[in-house]
Amino acid sequence: MSIVTVNPATGEELERYQEFSQDEIDLRLDRAVASFNRHRMTSFSERSRKMTRVAEILETEARTLGEIMTREMGKPIRQAEGEARKCATGCRYYAEHAEGFLMPELVQTDAHKSYVAFQPLGPILAVMPWNFPFWQVIRFAAPALMAGNVALLKHASSVTGCALALEDVFRRAGFDNDEFQTLVVSSRAVQGIIDDPRVKAVTLTGSTGAGRSVGSEAGNRIKPSVLELGGSDPFIVLADADLDKAVATGVQSRMQNNSQSCIAAKRFIVEAPIAEEFTRRFVEKMESLTVGDPMDEATDVGPLARADLRDDVHDQVERSLKQGAQLLTGGRKLEGKGFFYAPTVLGGIQPGMVAFEEEIFGPVASISVARDVDHAVELANQTTFGLGGAVFTEDRAKGEEVALRLEVGSAFVNGMVKSDPRLPFGGVKESGYGRELSHYGIREFVNIKTVWIG
Ligand code: NAP
Repeated sequence: MSIVTVNPATGEELERYQEFSQDEIDLRLDRAVASFNRHRMTSFSERSRKMTRVAEILETEARTLGEIMTREMGKPIRQAEGEARKCATGCRYYAEHAEGFLMPELVQTDAHKSYVAFQPLGPILAVMPWNFPFWQVIRFAAPALMAGNVALLKHASSVTGCALALEDVFRRAGFDNDEFQTLVVSSRAVQGIIDDPRVKAVTLTGSTGAGRSVGSEAGNRIKPSVLELGGSDPFIVLADADLDKAVATGVQSRMQNNSQSCIAAKRFIVEAPIAEEFTRRFVEKMESLTVGDPMDEATDVGPLARADLRDDVHDQVERSLKQGAQLLTGGRKLEGKGFFYAPTVLGGIQPGMVAFEEEIFGPVASISVARDVDHAVELANQTTFGLGGAVFTEDRAKGEEVALRLEVGSAFVNGMVKSDPRLPFGGVKESGYGRELSHYGIREFVNIKTVWIG
């Protein structure tokens, strides 16, 4: 079977890749075990030197690597270059801090000496999505490799070129003994790889459906797993908010990365006194965005990543409209080549409507009106998801109080939800479990071992 990649800006085929046979997968897993046995013995300074080299390559080649991302999944080239640079920051962060994060912790007990050691587990499988094709991989691979594990990447099929480019970057940086391998396989092969005793843990970033399947397989085999799944993040705007800032940040949060981000603001919940004004300005700003060729530096919004994903978004919009949502702008596929969709705003969104209940992974902002702060929090939490949430208010203390009441993994006051290597990232409820980034992330895939010496 082959994996075919397509340029979403034109609909044209880019490349065909032969999927690995079962024999090839077997060989790769053997190589992963052999490389783990070598890599686990290396010092932090050696790992750190190689990881810093990864960062240097990502920085110096940001443009060419960015072009691979843009060609395969359509993100605007400026954002793709920015992603390569952010990856470099993530690599440097773990190159500098991994040793400190995994330093043995002495604990006073009745023993002569007792402490906690953090030891690597082995080959870790990462099943990754196409939307941040480099960053999602780096935030798994940098801590995993620094901890002494080795990485097996099963990337989204639509970004196979990115997956192979990443493997090449790691090899050139000195991880040249199979410490980072890309497996060119479809999702059908994932279950067999999780089942394989050579694979010690799995992490998946993707949809809730894929999370259910990978999480249950890992559970079946009693293997640790981390699930970073979908979200339908609330973006609360209180009556005393700085509206210019709330509108600008809200549109950026909804639309960056062609509106395909797990932590994009998806449900705008606006306090009644400013709802009309906020909505008018928000629609105006959405209509001013430049939609077009993602290779053009002036483009704000490129195409959706695949034709079927655009069909899904349109279907969600149509179903919401049938339920009584108001179409304030957009709501249609754009004519011509590629998988473009008009920036869309839906008003009058109530619980029970598709736009409120489901994650819309496309350029669709839904606006609900809240009576007061308590109602805003109630609406924000009335979802099966729990990834991120933002609140805008000029009263920081009130903002902080709301942030603490949100059932999410990350709550931001007067700022858009974003990932930062220094802060943990992950969800609650059906947005997943486990954490990436910071010292929490690197401790997901280690054996937290008690050592007791009498
Ligand atoms: P997806 O369809 O779930 O795919 C993600 C990855 O899982 C791909 O590598 C895919 O492989 C694989 N996959 C799909 N179904 C599988 C199954 N049943 N068993 C094993 N593997 C399976 O998700 P997507 O459409 O690529 O990405 C969008 C979703 O990811 C959104 O819901 C978004 O919110 C979420 N996301 C979450 C985060 C986070 O950190 N929480 C970050 C980014 C995205 P194939 O491509 O070969 O099918």
